Amino acid sequence: MITHTFTNHLLESDPFDYSQKNKEIFLNSFKENALHHYHKHEFTRKLWDKLGFHPDMLKSEADLASVPGTMVHLYKEHELCSVPKEELALVLTSSGTGGQKSQQFLDQESLANVKRLALTIHQSLGMADSRQYNYLCFTYDPAVANDLGTAFTDELLTNFTGKNEVYYAIQWNEKIQDFELNEKGVLETLKRFEASDIPTRILGFPALLFEIIEKNNLHLNLGKDSWLQTGGGWKGKADKEIPKHEFRKMIHDRLGIPVEHQRDLFGMVEHGIPYVDCAQGNLHIPNYARVYTRSPRDLSLLPKGERGLLHFLCSYNFSYPAPSLLTTDYGRVGTCTCGIKGDTLILEGRAGVSKHKGCALKALELLKV
Ligand SMILES: [Zn+2]
Repeated sequence: MITHTFTNHLLESDPFDYSQKNKEIFLNSFKENALHHYHKHEFTRKLWDKLGFHPDMLKSEADLASVPGTMVHLYKEHELCSVPKEELALVLTSSGTGGQKSQQFLDQESLANVKRLALTIHQSLGMADSRQYNYLCFTYDPAVANDLGTAFTDELLTNFTGKNEVYYAIQWNEKIQDFELNEKGVLETLKRFEASDIPTRILGFPALLFEIIEKNNLHLNLGKDSWLQTGGGWKGKADKEIPKHEFRKMIHDRLGIPVEHQRDLFGMVEHGIPYVDCAQGNLHIPNYARVYTRSPRDLSLLPKGERGLLHFLCSYNFSYPAPSLLTTDYGRVGTCTCGIKGDTLILEGRAGVSKHKGCALKALELLKV
């Protein structure tokens, strides 16, 4: 397996150490990754040439903000890959709740990198643990859906602790030839886990858990050592979304899981970096990525703290040419008082699904190189 020296060095470093030295490690790793895609991926090279950008122009932290973002839609419409297909170890697909599916291509090195950085981030946030847990995962059984992003994530997350029983709630139904939520199974599993001496970890979509608790009027006590790790947002259930602090309180009241053990994760299949909550419930940005916000009108860089379209940089993936990804999600870069170094990511909804699409977005969709 090939290893890229600077990126290997980055992934050995503490994800929340934002010292000058560590920031330089990210800069070098990003440059290494961008040069790789520039040479191996014709589309990226032509796009950057056209926009007057070359990875050799990256000399300082400030230069990183000048890397042109490639619109997320392009990755949904085209199969963009920087290595021959036979070198791929895994193709990840988003769960695709309506609309187009997203894919990410991972060769062996990139797959090892993403697993490694996810572990380091969770360890640094105090979430990895060698003791045993019972897992209830509101996702597809990875034995039958290993290429789905959510199933991959959940299987990955269950490996950060010792595990006793793992129950996957979305199961394949032979009769209807489709996946379905086994709600009866979920309720039985929760009661079994409540009675067990082993603490519980629940992984899943917040909307689904919220619905099950309400519908079945659940009042359980899973114990102070149990955890809830959510992800995937309130996709398709945005009308029912409740603020995070209310959701955390409700989960504490109804399932007995301490508020500081409830951690949300934001990730995009095309980007792959996990942004994970600290005990205070803020998504922290690791030094394995950079997050900028841009004006929806002209894509100009906005000052830190201002709301705009999220623009992500990362450097771990050498098979998928998305080192600089411009999304259709709104957000801000914030700060947290928990003591973990670095900035936080504040999500503020999705752009582009409605009529209020900025013209820069429309223009980018039409941009063909
Ligand atoms: Zn924090």
